[in-house]
Amino acid sequence: MTAQIISGTEIAKEIRAELKQEIADLKEKHNVVPGLVTVLVGADPASQVYVGQKEKTSQNLGIYSERYDLPEDTSQEDLLALIDKLNNDPKINGILVQLPLPKHINETEVLYAISPKKDVDGFHPVSLGKLMIGEPDYIPCTPHGIQQLLIRSGVKIEGAEVVVVGRSNIVGKPIANILLQKADGANATVTVCHTRTRDLAFHTKRADIIIAAAGKAKAITADMVKDGVVVIDVGVNQIGTTAEGKRILVGDVDFEAVKEKASAITPVPGGVGPMTITMLMMNTVRAAKLAAGLA
Ligand code: NAP
Repeated sequence: MTAQIISGTEIAKEIRAELKQEIADLKEKHNVVPGLVTVLVGADPASQVYVGQKEKTSQNLGIYSERYDLPEDTSQEDLLALIDKLNNDPKINGILVQLPLPKHINETEVLYAISPKKDVDGFHPVSLGKLMIGEPDYIPCTPHGIQQLLIRSGVKIEGAEVVVVGRSNIVGKPIANILLQKADGANATVTVCHTRTRDLAFHTKRADIIIAAAGKAKAITADMVKDGVVVIDVGVNQIGTTAEGKRILVGDVDFEAVKEKASAITPVPGGVGPMTITMLMMNTVRAAKLAAGLA
């Protein structure tokens, strides 16, 4: 069997087209323009690229966008004061503080300071708590993107044995929670594995769907999966650079070997990655609708 390749690039394009239409309708019918602000502290090159992509995608879709580039030595007090100002700015529906923050800033305190109403990253405890009880306002972007990849590829999630490899607060735990819910696009039986799991292969071999979010290149090999498995590879691991100096990226799954056994699989790059920013845009539109009493 050679697997169907689940293209995050294509699915993200499809969702962005839907969002663009929805944003145009919101403006025309309700005079509502969703607004997103990105806040970057310091000059980490990867973070600059991510913030630039978020800004550009917002603008392409018709979302009002603001960007703050703050110096590396910004104090926690000044950052919290900016968040307070943005929490009270009616033009802004979503606030995204790019992580990681410099070491002298307490990341948790900063994320908790964002109003849950504007928490489009979905990392605030209020957002995560609501997700857990099945009444989400904002679902964290990467796990939400994973669920959309499964749904829009026609993968049957209900009743499936899902094995999640990784238990981080931004990927593993939320995706496990999302797929466990008594809801459409969920109702799975979920197992979560981590570095203390005694026999990882025992779990992955019986999975109908594997979500690999370990951050370890080729952690999932062909002998660890059953025929017909669906694999979502979240990992992004740099294993070298090309002669031209470009980064060589691979996922957590041995793609070439596993695709011969799987029924469907995401590539890296071009799988989960393009979905993350798209779901941020979806959350921003939702925030604007909630603020306007339209959701
Ligand atoms: P993380 O915070 O480092 O968490 C990794 C998790 O995987 C931990 O729970 C760890 O277990 C577990 N783990 C590591 N090695 C393992 C192994 N050999 N067997 C079983 N479990 C193992 O990482 P993260 O933030 O969740 O990200 C995971 C990967 O996804 C990274 O490669 C990251 O770059 C990528 N990512 C991609 C996107 C995207 O948009 N494409 C977004 C977010 C993350 P312990 O808890 O026991 O340490």
